[in-house]
Amino acid sequence: PGSLYLVPTPIGNSRDITLRAVDVLSAVDVIAAEDTRNARALLRPLKRPSHQLVLSCHEHNWRSRIPTLLSHLERGRNVALVSDAGTPCVSDPGAQVVEAVVAAGLKVVPLPGPCAAVSALIASAMPTPSFTFVGFLPRVGESRRKAIEHVAAIKSTVVLYEAPHRLLSTLKALQQAEGNGRSCCLAREMTKKYEEFLRFDTISDAYEFYRTQTAKPRGEFTIVLAPIPVQPLVDHDLITYPTAPVEIPSL
Ligand code: SAM
Repeated sequence: PGSLYLVPTPIGNSRDITLRAVDVLSAVDVIAAEDTRNARALLRPLKRPSHQLVLSCHEHNWRSRIPTLLSHLERGRNVALVSDAGTPCVSDPGAQVVEAVVAAGLKVVPLPGPCAAVSALIASAMPTPSFTFVGFLPRVGESRRKAIEHVAAIKSTVVLYEAPHRLLSTLKALQQAEGNGRSCCLAREMTKKYEEFLRFDTISDAYEFYRTQTAKPRGEFTIVLAPIPVQPLVDHDLITYPTAPVEIPSL
């Protein structure tokens, strides 16, 4: 049988496609793309087999696409899955396809590559040992309120995606739920011409910054929240360790 390749694509800078992604996209029999027009633009410069199929696979048709993709794989054809930008399955279609392919006992091969969450995290200057990725918050209603409360209670660094026209309302809701103890970084238009990282001491400073701007927030944003400071349980400087070798009882 063939393999399902998960292929990340650039999040802005077209040079960010990896050599391996080019190799895979130039060789597979089938490409399942979130948007076939975007995919064709990406594929245009590549030398590809003439029999290569480009199919759509997005949030509205993945259910009906799964049997088609499984049958290609079972007949020995290799399939690449791409989303519009960044890593498939990360706030993008693909997770259900992966689930079905694994359930069918077929092979999944992930390629590392561009992912807005990781780029924002590493440039944010927030602690990285542990972080929680929450993707997009629900847009309205009770589920949104609950999600905001949940995020406010997360103690580690938090990474969120948000659309520019909802940025202000999300910052406001986070600031209200969270009590304003954490700093934040807004990673905007990463890898593009107007890339910037705006760092604020508090979430309300970020909110005020955008609220008082005449122009509305524009471009793509990833929000990184600092961890909630936790009091250490023990003061490690005061602990003295035994200097004598510890005897290990023989078995
Ligand atoms: N799968 C993608 C990934 O791996 O990055 C994420 C797809 S999600 C539909 C799109 C969201 O990612 C945007 O709304 C924004 O929050 C974030 N994003 C994507 N590109 C970005 C960029 N160049 N700069 C900042 N955030 C970006």
